[in-house]
Amino acid sequence: MLTAIDGGGSVVSAYDMTRNGWESFFCPECGNDLVLHKGSIKIHHFSHRSNSGCFYGSGESHDHHSCKLHMYESLRTHPKFKRVEMEHKFHGSNIRADVALQSNNGHRIGIEVQRSSMTCDVFAERTQKYLDSNIAVLWILPTPFKVDGQGRIAPLAWQKRLHELNFGRVYVWKKPDDYIDRLGGGCVTAVHFDRCYLDSGRMSRRFRIRNTSQELLVVNSFHIVQRGGFKNCKPAKIFHDYLTERWW
Ligand SMILES: [Zn+2]
Repeated sequence: MLTAIDGGGSVVSAYDMTRNGWESFFCPECGNDLVLHKGSIKIHHFSHRSNSGCFYGSGESHDHHSCKLHMYESLRTHPKFKRVEMEHKFHGSNIRADVALQSNNGHRIGIEVQRSSMTCDVFAERTQKYLDSNIAVLWILPTPFKVDGQGRIAPLAWQKRLHELNFGRVYVWKKPDDYIDRLGGGCVTAVHFDRCYLDSGRMSRRFRIRNTSQELLVVNSFHIVQRGGFKNCKPAKIFHDYLTERWW
């Protein structure tokens, strides 16, 4: 995780802290003490000591940290949002979003940067919590799909559910370069999973063909959509792009 609670009860970021040996940092979820990691290659972050028993922040990769930090940094000064906070628990809910947004007209949006491993049940449960708290959710994958020699990708089960939730796309973080930096505002691409046919002519259950949109900015290409249920997908409140349904 990139933020922690200090001895005085304030939220502090790993980026701003120095490792001096006497300062203590605590997990905002379980209250146990945390270790501050400062490095030149990895992004500064906090982690639990081993066997803490708390899973908050566990398994977050370098890409996960970079994506979260980049989203936060590129949105926090944007005039469209009144409040932008990292690893923040929304008031009156038990949802701690990777990046929590509050728009000027009072709408709340949570960005969830999701590493690959998650069950469909956990995905559904977390999406449901957002709806129950009347907060829109934007799931972002921090790493691009691996494409095999035949141009195929193999999305995980929960990623296929996410594809259904988002009307046929998932959002993948676009790592900043000079061009993206100039754009600002949190950049992703939408990836549509096209059917993939095997040599036998049958449709593959496992593989899909990736179809990628142009770059989309979270600040101006997205709006809140309250969607109904369909097939595996329950009704949900999502932050969704303005592209038409058949952009691919
Ligand atoms: Zn904890």
